[in-house]
Amino acid sequence: MNHDVIVLGAGLAGLAAARDLARGGADVLVVEARDRVGGRVEQNRLPDGRLVQLGGEVVGRAHTAYTDLVAELGLTLVPSYVAEPGALTRATPEGVSADDPPHWFGPGDEAAHRKATAAFVSLAATVDPADPWSHPDATALDRLSVGDWLRAEGAPPAVVRLWEIGQLALADGSYERTSLLAALRKHTAVPADGHYAYEAWEGLRVAEGSATVALRMAEELDGRIRTGAPVAAVAVRRPGGCTVRLAGGESLTARAVVSALPVGPLRSVAVTGVSDERLASLHRQRHAVAAKFVAAYDEPFWRARGLSGLSESEGVLGSTWPQSEGILSALVPPERYGVLLGMPPALRTAELLAEMARLYGAEAHRPLATYLRTWGTDPWTQGYVTHWTPGDVMAVGPRHGTHEPPFYVCGSDQWVAGYMEGAVRTGRAASKEALTRG
Ligand SMILES: Cc1cc2nc3c(=O)[nH]c(=O)nc-3n(C[C@H](O)[C@H](O)[C@H](O)COP(=O)(O)OP(=O)(O)OC[C@H]3O[C@@H](n4cnc5c(N)ncnc54)[C@H](O)[C@@H]3O)c2cc1C
Repeated sequence: MNHDVIVLGAGLAGLAAARDLARGGADVLVVEARDRVGGRVEQNRLPDGRLVQLGGEVVGRAHTAYTDLVAELGLTLVPSYVAEPGALTRATPEGVSADDPPHWFGPGDEAAHRKATAAFVSLAATVDPADPWSHPDATALDRLSVGDWLRAEGAPPAVVRLWEIGQLALADGSYERTSLLAALRKHTAVPADGHYAYEAWEGLRVAEGSATVALRMAEELDGRIRTGAPVAAVAVRRPGGCTVRLAGGESLTARAVVSALPVGPLRSVAVTGVSDERLASLHRQRHAVAAKFVAAYDEPFWRARGLSGLSESEGVLGSTWPQSEGILSALVPPERYGVLLGMPPALRTAELLAEMARLYGAEAHRPLATYLRTWGTDPWTQGYVTHWTPGDVMAVGPRHGTHEPPFYVCGSDQWVAGYMEGAVRTGRAASKEALTRG
């Protein structure tokens, strides 16, 4: 059967694109490799009814594409862990503390941190997030890592360490391997006073569960989604005769194709009829690999110690935060992902719980349930969020996030730095383009 549009991938981006296409009157089909929708948003229900998010979880007030969609779907936004009272805990090999400033800071380090933050914010104001390539110093800023820039600005090792522990808490790649231009671009896409404003990026969550956003869209697309259907090849022909070949050998045809695949799995899809430059730009993108660990407890026992459940750590875990009442989320950043995989599988949960116990006390050893999701080596994700190493922004170039009708691209990788906002924003934008241009 010939469709108007075939959307590749039923993550938030593909679903948002397909929903708008269907509402715009297009005959749309979504093909999805997994036997479920949602991609990097996924949830499980505990026997007591609480939902556990295994992927994307929180959004910021400035993430308007996502928050608008949530409102359209009749779902509810509530404050996230950012509103949780209590102190942030930091764990390093030398100790665990809830001190502010951190326990490794000495005289002059606070002032140096404020100076570096102010310099970063003011440099970020010179970058256009939609067009970082036009910055007069784009090549030089892209070549520099954030770590090298900090040292060049005179930041002492204690300050570099604070920035790094915060970056690895987000499980994005190390600041020693992150392009300064990419970091500035991300900052200026959601401007705020500080270097990473938690409220602006992570202050909200969907009360019904973030994966419910995907499930609601899939309900609206009833009958238009094929799961268990990995795409092997796409042949784009103008005007408007595209063929999508599934791994099982079946061929589907459409006037246009919207790719909502993460950049890793997309590399294995044979795409023809699209310019070499377009493909080279897509294939030049990469992900930070990370894992998520979740431990569900009867109650938030860390509160009795005056702690918020938010931590930054130099262990195998990079961070923890309270996902909802009694449920702790944690991320394993790329730098430590290999260490996680090197742990004998039977020991992993106990060793990660021991890290939580070091932060919050022995109760951490007694969860009701735990989940370990190794997204970095999941074949249909091959990562976690977009990562830009030095040189990547210029190498990917201004084709980032652009279309070659009738081949359209979307997905969180096509926004500045991943995130659910990037998926929804680019999905809806791709659908608008496809409806306008055909
Ligand atoms: C552990 C974790 C925590 C996160 N936390 C947050 C957070 O708190 N806040 C936030 O904003 N973001 C967070 N993110 C990022 C966010 O979840 C993602 O950026 C977003 O959900 C990606 O949506 P997407 O549609 O672009 O891609 P995906 O969700 O990856 O969707 C792509 C789809 O394509 C499918 N696919 C792949 N290959 C093929 C193929 N060959 N054929 C057919 N289908 C294929 C996949 O199965 C998948 O369903 C997190 C991500 C992870 C993994």
